[in-house]
Amino acid sequence: MTAVGLKNIDKFYGDNHVLRDINLDVDEGEFVVIVGPSGCGKSTLLRVIAGLEIPDEGIVELFEKKVNDVSPALRDIAMVFQAYALYPHFTVFENLSFALELTHISKKDIAKRVEEVAQILSLDDYLDRKPSELSGGQRQRVALGRALVRHPKIFLFDEPLSNLDAALRMNTRIEIARLHRTLGTTIIYVTHDQTEAMTLADTIVVMCDGVIEQVGRPMELYNKPVNLFVAGFLGSPAMNFISKDILPLGRATTVGLRPEHLRVADKGRLAGNVLHYERLGTDTHVIVDLGNEKLLTVRLVGQHEFELGSDIALDFDNDKAILFDDQGQRISE
Ligand code: ADP
Ligand code: MG
Repeated sequence: MTAVGLKNIDKFYGDNHVLRDINLDVDEGEFVVIVGPSGCGKSTLLRVIAGLEIPDEGIVELFEKKVNDVSPALRDIAMVFQAYALYPHFTVFENLSFALELTHISKKDIAKRVEEVAQILSLDDYLDRKPSELSGGQRQRVALGRALVRHPKIFLFDEPLSNLDAALRMNTRIEIARLHRTLGTTIIYVTHDQTEAMTLADTIVVMCDGVIEQVGRPMELYNKPVNLFVAGFLGSPAMNFISKDILPLGRATTVGLRPEHLRVADKGRLAGNVLHYERLGTDTHVIVDLGNEKLLTVRLVGQHEFELGSDIALDFDNDKAILFDDQGQRISE
């Protein structure tokens, strides 16, 4: 069953064409991550699905029924935002139960649902506390919990981890992944962070300027990006792009090489000097200047040292190179 179907969606804010002919099907139970740079229309797309924005063109379907005219409250969707506001004077229990108090669900069932969710999110020991007595991560879990207690058919997440520090982001990421495995609910998750997209998604949707550039499994997008934008957006450090003036390979206008696919070689096809290097413990990133301000990043496994400014030659296996034409479209297999 298709949980969310978007057909030819267009959305304008004045002259600003924010969503351009968006077509997307999300299967029931799927975890879809929409990723793209700030301002590309991700939040607007979520708001269209939630019913908080009405598209100018196109059809929104939930479970294969058109919902363009259905109000947000009746769409059975729960949304978690980046800037979650908990009620400061309410306890965790009250924050979690509040949305249910407005329904016809009995007090007893509400308490049951809150306890269930508190257990899933390890908040059972904190139900009597106020938000000010919680850590940032715990507060974020309460915000998640508020969505969970509603037992919605679909979860929408809009950059829910942006306010957390790196360690907490990773923990919460793991928690969200586990939650999805446990509940099996359809999730559409928006982020500008390619790591979150790569680690969480069944399916990634890459957006740029209101357009969907590519839809696919994380490794499919990493290994076979359709164009320069997707190639450059996914992967950290980012893919190197080398023009045919420096490196001709078949009929490619641009050759894309991932940092991990470059190696130091005595006689390499690419020659430059070491501008800088970063040792991360597990890996060393070497920034190589090919001249004319063209920089490459090489990722070497392990700990290495270099003399700054020294000559260095690089090479790669041809089958690792990703070739792009003059329109920026991938032409290699
Ligand atoms: P993202 O979530 O990818 O950062 P948004 O969907 O928030 O992007 O915004 C997409 C574009 O729409 C941006 O140019 C933004 O300025 C514009 N925009 C978003 N919301 C509104 C609004 N309520 N009124 C006018 N313009 C808006
Ligand atoms: Mg946004």
